[in-house]
Amino acid sequence: MGATIQETRSTCPYCGVGCGVIIETRNQQIVGVRGDTDHPANRGRLCSKGSTLHLSAASEVQAQVRLLQPLHRLERNTTPQAIGWDAALDLAAARVGDIIARDGPDAMGFYVSGQLLTEDYYVFNKLVKGLIGSNNIDSNSRLCMSSAVAGYKQSFGADAPPACYEDIEQTDCLFIAGSNTAFAHPVLFRRVEDARKARPDMKVIVVDPRRTETAHTADLHLAIQPGSDVMLFHGMLHLMLWEGWTRPAYIEAHTEGFEALRAVVREATPERVSRICGISEADLLTATRWFACSPATLSMYCQGLNQSTSGTAKNTALINLHLAAGQLGRVGAGPFSLTGQPNAMGGREVGGMANLLSAHRDLSNAQHRAEVAALWGVERVPSAPGKTAVEMFEAAADGQIKGLWIACTNPAQSMPDQTTVRAALRRAEFVVVQEAYLSASTCDFADLVLPASTWGEKEGTVTNSERRISRVRAAIPAPGLARPDWRIASDFGQRLASRLGRPELLPYDTPESIWNEHRASTLGRDLDIGGLSYQLLDHAGPQQWPYPAGASTGRQRLYEDGVFPTPSGRARFVATHYRPPAEPRDARYPFSLNTGRLRDQWHGMTRTGTVARLMGHAPEPSIALNAQDIRRLGLADGQLVHVTSRRASVILPVQPAPEVALTQAFIPMHWGSETLGGRSTGATGASGINSLTLSAFCPDSKQPELKHAAVKILAAELPWSYLAMAWIDAGRVLAVREALRHEMPAFDFASCVVFGRERQGVQLRAAAYEPVDPEVLDRIEAWLGMSGDAAIRYSDQRRARSRVMRLSGANDAERLDAFVLAGDASAQIWIRPLLLDQGQTRGLRRLLLATGSRTPLEPATRSRQICTCLDVKEDAVLTCAAGLLGDEETRLSGLQSRLRCGTQCGSCVPELRRLLRQGAPTPA
Ligand code: SF4
Repeated sequence: MGATIQETRSTCPYCGVGCGVIIETRNQQIVGVRGDTDHPANRGRLCSKGSTLHLSAASEVQAQVRLLQPLHRLERNTTPQAIGWDAALDLAAARVGDIIARDGPDAMGFYVSGQLLTEDYYVFNKLVKGLIGSNNIDSNSRLCMSSAVAGYKQSFGADAPPACYEDIEQTDCLFIAGSNTAFAHPVLFRRVEDARKARPDMKVIVVDPRRTETAHTADLHLAIQPGSDVMLFHGMLHLMLWEGWTRPAYIEAHTEGFEALRAVVREATPERVSRICGISEADLLTATRWFACSPATLSMYCQGLNQSTSGTAKNTALINLHLAAGQLGRVGAGPFSLTGQPNAMGGREVGGMANLLSAHRDLSNAQHRAEVAALWGVERVPSAPGKTAVEMFEAAADGQIKGLWIACTNPAQSMPDQTTVRAALRRAEFVVVQEAYLSASTCDFADLVLPASTWGEKEGTVTNSERRISRVRAAIPAPGLARPDWRIASDFGQRLASRLGRPELLPYDTPESIWNEHRASTLGRDLDIGGLSYQLLDHAGPQQWPYPAGASTGRQRLYEDGVFPTPSGRARFVATHYRPPAEPRDARYPFSLNTGRLRDQWHGMTRTGTVARLMGHAPEPSIALNAQDIRRLGLADGQLVHVTSRRASVILPVQPAPEVALTQAFIPMHWGSETLGGRSTGATGASGINSLTLSAFCPDSKQPELKHAAVKILAAELPWSYLAMAWIDAGRVLAVREALRHEMPAFDFASCVVFGRERQGVQLRAAAYEPVDPEVLDRIEAWLGMSGDAAIRYSDQRRARSRVMRLSGANDAERLDAFVLAGDASAQIWIRPLLLDQGQTRGLRRLLLATGSRTPLEPATRSRQICTCLDVKEDAVLTCAAGLLGDEETRLSGLQSRLRCGTQCGSCVPELRRLLRQGAPTPA
């Protein structure tokens, strides 16, 4: 203590909003983070995820979950052994070199990430396409926005989002489609809220099958049937034509292909659209009028459009509306794709995908291949398209791809159809995983694990959704032997080049030297950044592209002159017929399963899942169903159900959710095998939500349909129930969670998470058809500090039931520190709150151990947490709200001044508004 705080400007590593952060460090430890008021993306704001970054970077967290040295697994399913960097890279070069020499360059597959920095991405792309001579490099951005890329290219001729964040404040009609912006891009949603306050006449339309927090705030919510977006957009164009709301002059001057589209949308009559989309004709007309007739209409869209077998068609059908109504190239107007990941845009810029080349060049274009080969100083870049994400893992499962190199992503959690993905990881001869977190499931399959540095330790750049390039800066050195991703790739590349007898291609010693090469590749292209430099970014702050040499600023909006980067200079109307989802629900699988984001979690939770307070809003895995469906199926709230798709089955507790429509279901995308497991998932070992999802993909973008799978839901009768909870020292809590996670396969259902706030703990909830092996239970108790005399216990061996309690303190200060309920967990109704609230246990010892059904305390229903920053619960909000008068704004201000909820990061404000309207609590 006593050392001064150092400050480092950087960028949030989570979503595509790209918020600027200021990292506070003391003695080379990250101790705080706050929003950068100078950053144009967030102007000082951060959401619940960004504002807790320092907690995920705390030294005791890092010590428990980080990979600190290279690890080598001599045999699969064994504990990996530590190995030095030289040995690790030599081994990698030898094994990869052997595979290439024996089976050719396409026998390797590289799967990278939209969370890599642009510099990392550039080196990987050059390593694979330039040095190895294969195009088998793809990115998890394929699961995120490749449909947006394909859509922009088909419609405009280039992959360039034409709008900017400022348009949110300037638009008259905001059309949000397939995006729960309030949860997935919270700081952007703060700008929507500000815009609505400043411009009360602005209309907001939300298209989403779920009544999300975003939809709740809309003037018009179109709760369409899952996957019917193309029909909706065609129906809107049909009405625009009928009502005379198109802009013929714009169509005539700046577009082509309208007649073909006119023929396609002719069939999208209001009656047909109403029937297929499940919305009223009146709402369709209102949406169309607002979209077409508002002075400026901005659409924002994300995974609901992209993650679909019609992903590209959904994007182009929406862009068709903008072109037909002349709603682009102006302030407050345009089709604006929001990127999910922090640097999905940077990956697109360097061409880090199987079908792209540097600086928005196309692999299929011979001229572009020749330009890149000349830039890189190689003879040629191969012309055959590489395997995209799904294809790559299918090829590895088939034995066609022999080696996999995975960097900064967790396909054993995030890819659809986990049965195939895990078969691929098992079958591949050599799997390298380049990762920061040992807790990522994919590490379990690796022959070689290479420790990568992560946020707070890396230097480079990222590009956000509005084409704005920001610097990422290191505030502390990487722990242990962890290295930057670009360094690992280039060190490996140097060894591989000498082994293959090929020229050295990756001679970089700084991220800046890589970035300068990337900059050179953009000259004369649509994303020309010839006028930018690290120095300029450092002095003038983040900048938008294009920013060619001689420019004094980047370009805010594109296509203001109506000229598009197509051969004719005209934008193209794309005429694609509506197709239903690949796997429509039917009599056997009668529910449409949707997946999506929680407010406080990021992707596979390797980072956010380490922060106990971020678990408060959605503490455990569950499946959300409409209450009517729960009743129709004869289920009770919280009851375990089998959720079964054509690929796998998982067991989850069911949760009523008014936002989910009838015959639909929702499971957050975050619950992978790290948090959700059990042997009921079958012999494949596939687990987590993505064992249910399917790998069918869009024919143009190859983006899989993560947003829709047909499932059936049946009650799971698991008579043996189990709940273990314990407060654990901060220095051990994540290590304990990791240990318990590996016990989950002993149960038929299990979930394992951290909980708490200032104090943290681990919870393992489970159930089984038969009593579970006592040795497993002993191990769990040992991890929770409940072995031997450390705890009091009662055991009924005949009925395979037991209770174990660890208490601390004495007399009035006695408290419950840990408990296990095995065989019958029904007493959790009063014991769980006792532990969480740290209630007094004096006089309850005997009842804590009694296995009867008696509940000596009033069963406490713990209210849901709404405000993560200040730990404000739903019951407090509703009680306070009941005494508030006035309009919604006045009552919201009242809530904020009395409870302070929503006054910090603001991520809970949409939920506070909903509660103000709703007035009654939802079940915890
Ligand atoms: Fe990070 Fe939140 Fe900003 Fe996204 S909105 S960049 S997660 S702080």
